[in-house]
Amino acid sequence: MHSSNRILTIEWQEILDMRSNILTRPFDQDNDNYARFTAAILSHPEITSLSTKEVIEFMYAFYTNEMDMLVPALRTIRTLRPDMQDCIDCGYSLDPFASLINHSCAPNTMSNFEGKQPRFRAERDISAGEELTGIYTFKLDGVKRKEKLLKCWGFECSCQICEGKDIPKPLEASLLNHATDLVHEDDPQKLLAITLDPFGYHKSCKLALNDILESGASWGVFPMADLHLLVYSGYCRGLDRPNMLKTWLRFVYLVEPASRPRHPKDQCITHLKLLINPLNTSSAHDEYLPYPASVAKLTTNLWYHLRYKVLRDVQKCFGEDSEIARFQYRENEDVFGRNESLSRDSIAIQKRFRDKLGCDFIPISPTAEGRKAKEKFLRDMNELLAWAEVPPMTERELL
Ligand SMILES: [Zn+2]
Repeated sequence: MHSSNRILTIEWQEILDMRSNILTRPFDQDNDNYARFTAAILSHPEITSLSTKEVIEFMYAFYTNEMDMLVPALRTIRTLRPDMQDCIDCGYSLDPFASLINHSCAPNTMSNFEGKQPRFRAERDISAGEELTGIYTFKLDGVKRKEKLLKCWGFECSCQICEGKDIPKPLEASLLNHATDLVHEDDPQKLLAITLDPFGYHKSCKLALNDILESGASWGVFPMADLHLLVYSGYCRGLDRPNMLKTWLRFVYLVEPASRPRHPKDQCITHLKLLINPLNTSSAHDEYLPYPASVAKLTTNLWYHLRYKVLRDVQKCFGEDSEIARFQYRENEDVFGRNESLSRDSIAIQKRFRDKLGCDFIPISPTAEGRKAKEKFLRDMNELLAWAEVPPMTERELL
């Protein structure tokens, strides 16, 4: 808490002056992390003389102002944790700057930690003088979200979404029906195949879909992650793969862009990473190539290019120097080279694609060949999307 392991009286008063949610939030006594934390505080020599009331005040103030130290876990698909937004929770941070950032259900920043350092990044263009906002709760299930904000942080949200100024479009009926079919599957064999998942995606998907049905719109960022994982889980177990891929493409290219609030960029990257898997049909047996010939001929090329998109998006989202970006680059060095920079060495990477992989596209090269290849990528992607009944998308939307 302090480098000298002592808290000055004046600092302690500052901590006690933090806003607390003591009146609105009953403390969760089952939370053993907080119990350990309480024990650590009570054993602190400077604090043992505090009254019970002061310790309780402190606990509530800490609870109201702390940030979970979430470190992105994009490393493998197995590290996905729907309850933690694809992050590993490394502890709690009480940061004098970060704790002051107010909530919005459609925030203009998202944060994560690089080691012990909180990092805030813009989720969209922010005007000079505009207040920076973050998001306090990911479990955005309609009315319950507002209730949670009131109970845990003691305020009524009046952001654009809560004030009804940014209403999402209703989820397309056919997609909703398909997702509902997956969740309400009543064939026991199929259900078993879908629901063998350690994190309980199936249950949370049901809750998410009920919420979507009730609100009539594609509410909620958090539940969508579970829908993705449910489809992935079904795909891995060999259920109707063409249909799974179709549903998936529609989640990524139709539902995510229409959702309000928007999906955070890191979550979009994770979804894209999942989607890339069924496109990797390059060395698989026939049984893993379940798509019609018109789709199968596109998959290898698109698989490489979407890997590039993930790599570039990770660099943009977290910064080229971040641990997660460096890891992602190492993961892809078979394709993009060991020491090459995506922007600096685009021509060399393009040559490698053509010579070794037989691919003719890299969307970063400024040459005429690069432009031609980019057009081919856009054509191929739209062909794949048309198969999934997704309307054609623009270059800006696909790249
Ligand atoms: Zn709100």
